[in-house]
Amino acid sequence: MAQSILKIALDVPLDRLFDYLGNGQPVQVGQRVLVPFGNRNHIGIVMGITDSSEISIGKLKPVIQVFSEETPLDAEMLSLIKFSADYYQYPYGQALLSTLPARLRQVAPAVSRKQYLYQLTDAGRTADIEQIPKKQKVLRSVLSTLQAAYQLTEAELDAISGTARKAAKALVDMGYASSKQVPLLQRVMTLTPAAEPQLNAEQMEAVQQITAEPDVFKAWLLYGITGSGKTEVYIRLLQRVLQHAGAQVLVLVPEINLTPQLEARFRTRLPGFPLVSLHSNLSESERLQHWQLAQSAAAKIVIGTRLSVFTPLPDLKLIIIDEEHDSSYKQQDSMRYHARDVAMVRAKRLNIPVVLGSATPALETWYNATVNPNKASQYGLLRLKERAVTAAQLPQIDCIDTTKVNLQHGLTPQLIAALRLRLERKEQSLLFINRRGYSPVLLCSACHWIAPCSRCSSRLVVHLAQRKLRCHHCGHEQRIPHQCPSCGDADLHPTGHGTQRLEQTLAQLLPTARIARVDRDSISRKNALIEILDRVHSQEIDILVGTQMLAKGHDFPNLTLVGVIDTDSALHSPDFRASERLFAQLMQVAGRAGRADKAGQVIIQTQFPDHALFNALRTQDYESYANVLLHEREQMQFPPYVFTALLRAEANDYNLVQQFLHFAFVQARILNDQVLVYDPVRPQMERLKGMERGYLLMQAKQRPALHHLLKQLVTQMRAHKLAAKVRWAIDVNPLEF
Ligand code: ADP
Ligand code: ZN
Ligand code: ZN
Repeated sequence: MAQSILKIALDVPLDRLFDYLGNGQPVQVGQRVLVPFGNRNHIGIVMGITDSSEISIGKLKPVIQVFSEETPLDAEMLSLIKFSADYYQYPYGQALLSTLPARLRQVAPAVSRKQYLYQLTDAGRTADIEQIPKKQKVLRSVLSTLQAAYQLTEAELDAISGTARKAAKALVDMGYASSKQVPLLQRVMTLTPAAEPQLNAEQMEAVQQITAEPDVFKAWLLYGITGSGKTEVYIRLLQRVLQHAGAQVLVLVPEINLTPQLEARFRTRLPGFPLVSLHSNLSESERLQHWQLAQSAAAKIVIGTRLSVFTPLPDLKLIIIDEEHDSSYKQQDSMRYHARDVAMVRAKRLNIPVVLGSATPALETWYNATVNPNKASQYGLLRLKERAVTAAQLPQIDCIDTTKVNLQHGLTPQLIAALRLRLERKEQSLLFINRRGYSPVLLCSACHWIAPCSRCSSRLVVHLAQRKLRCHHCGHEQRIPHQCPSCGDADLHPTGHGTQRLEQTLAQLLPTARIARVDRDSISRKNALIEILDRVHSQEIDILVGTQMLAKGHDFPNLTLVGVIDTDSALHSPDFRASERLFAQLMQVAGRAGRADKAGQVIIQTQFPDHALFNALRTQDYESYANVLLHEREQMQFPPYVFTALLRAEANDYNLVQQFLHFAFVQARILNDQVLVYDPVRPQMERLKGMERGYLLMQAKQRPALHHLLKQLVTQMRAHKLAAKVRWAIDVNPLEF
């Protein structure tokens, strides 16, 4: 017999597979193996098993080890990752390995503690209990429990009876059940399932439409403001889909911070269904275990952040993407995938529905749900117009013109008065600061010098408590200088409304207020945010000051005032997505005010109170604003009316970047005249972490033309002599420029 040759994907930046000899151990496609590569051993994944190689057999090295006790990756996952790697122009092996839990990228075999899981077979489903003699009580009760629950773990069997495991094995012998080994699953049982609200008509309609054709691909936009009952719809969808024996559901959430809340709600409402979460706050062993539970189909509900779109789920029947507009679904380095787009491809291939939920859908999504002329790719649009709890009212939104009043440390008298009123009423307030540009910088009042970062084109941020200047882009730190390095003057002072400064100002103005600050510095500790949020819930905090971290998903019933300090920089940003993002953010923070039975108020300080964005916000009219923005995008020929890709390049020396981008520019023009190639430019942040940066933007009316070009271009760039000196990457459908 000819010796088997394994085609293996490795985590190396080369877009090809590598041939190795089998070592006699049984092996399947998708299996993890250990192979020698270069001067060390690498983990690889078997992509093919053949008996021929372009390299002579004598030169091939054998694999060191096949992890044959592990379940191989299934064909669906391998092909989804292949698609993604091609689409995002990223080497396949690197893409594949990067989707695995860290433990599976390490050399040691990945063992979790295991137990047997018993699942009902088709014969078991239709089996008649009465055929089992009455005196075999345990056998009868295990079968009937299995018929109701579809599957039981050893621990659950133990809860039925001391001999239930034996009974389960007997059911396997009778053909009524199958058994398999799975990682240990801790099922959190909730004894009293939470009460079910009666769905309103819109919610009912949504559930019915989405579940009408379960085995057909269809994308649905579930569009409804915060509190309109989207999560309740998800829960009903899960209930319906999971009724079908063995079905699995994937729920994507934008932030780790949001998973515990959703997890708790799902656990109490769907107590019978094993649920695992997948996000970067898990320990490596938890992550591996949860991933394996998903892969073995023991877990029925998987809640996770963007990477979990690549989790093997053999019985996947529904994908839900909560807050689908959130930009954290886009990976910003290595393979720059967008989890929503990958989920869409996955659902299409599996012929299952996918539900996108948002109060402020991404313009791409809104386009697909409203104007996309291509009927086949049009999304179903489901609106939830009312807040689900009728008592909850929409907040009142006031824009205060900051050019017409006297500011006290950046705060308008109206906002200060509103804060006072909340203190008197023992209600809570949230002050929201837009992240960009609102950190205090060090300014020389004599010559207007501002302390710069030596490694980035950015300004250093003042951290008074530590008496340090710090760069928020590269982490560079230095002491606060005593005099201006430019003119020698000693009058250097922090300027700008950083969250720290605002906190101090508030403490002066409202000395009795208990204030907490949430920004990247104050919550760098792992559980700091959760602790602060707990204190807000237990009414130990009156005023919460923070950045967009606070905008999302937290429900504070006693919070009745939201102040927005300054957003004007985003109104006039060169980034064409800035106003879309700002609107979504403000809708979200506004949703924080007055969620329970208390009316909320939102005060926005701005120099442009009559801006269309604020007008739309006042009436919470996402739709008309989205239509205005779409019209602008069409006029300007921006996405979603065109498709874009960005070549990002950086090097120590800008000359190299320039040469490289020029090469790509010329090649791209020669290769494809369907694609518009712009002149290379420098991004706003010209230098980052000591690297000089440049961009090349490509744009096309049709996606295939762009992808065809990228494929050829990437091959040429990889072969270019500068490719080793210039760090470069392709960003398909970039979100940030
Ligand atoms: P969203 O996800 O759109 O923010 P939720 O599903 O969280 O909205 O609903 C907001 C609140 O209203 C929750 O407390 C939820 O339990 C409640 N709720 C949802 N639907 C209903 C309903 N049909 N009847 C009563 N309460 C509901
Ligand atoms: Zn100076
Ligand atoms: Zn820096």
